[in-house]
Amino acid sequence: MHEYSLAMGLVEALREELRRHPVNGRIAKVHVRQGELLVLSEEALQEAWRILTQGGELAGSELAIEKVAVRVRCGGCGYQGPVGYLSEQGWHFAVPVLRCPRCGGRVEVVEGRDLAIVGLSLEEQGSPT
Ligand SMILES: [Zn+2]
Repeated sequence: MHEYSLAMGLVEALREELRRHPVNGRIAKVHVRQGELLVLSEEALQEAWRILTQGGELAGSELAIEKVAVRVRCGGCGYQGPVGYLSEQGWHFAVPVLRCPRCGGRVEVVEGRDLAIVGLSLEEQGSPT
């Protein structure tokens, strides 16, 4: 299962990070960014997260997923930024077009295809910090 291995990657990266930089207190939320080119079921990812974090220091933590738009770089004209979207009537979504919006050339995706941890929220322990 795709989501399971993604969750596993996050858990491993986070555990490694926590070994080097331990935090004070229980982790309530793990904030991640999901690129819009990465297709996944959020439900399946949450479920995998719940299973993988059981019994460890991340047990009971929640994944807070934020979606990020695709950003590209064009080798032809040097354009860097968001792409155009293709949407047709009746579609419930818009599809990013991986082409330079300025010159139509081929682009390299610089953001938008992976899942990355961007921050942690610790459980508040009475006093606000
Ligand atoms: Zn271009």
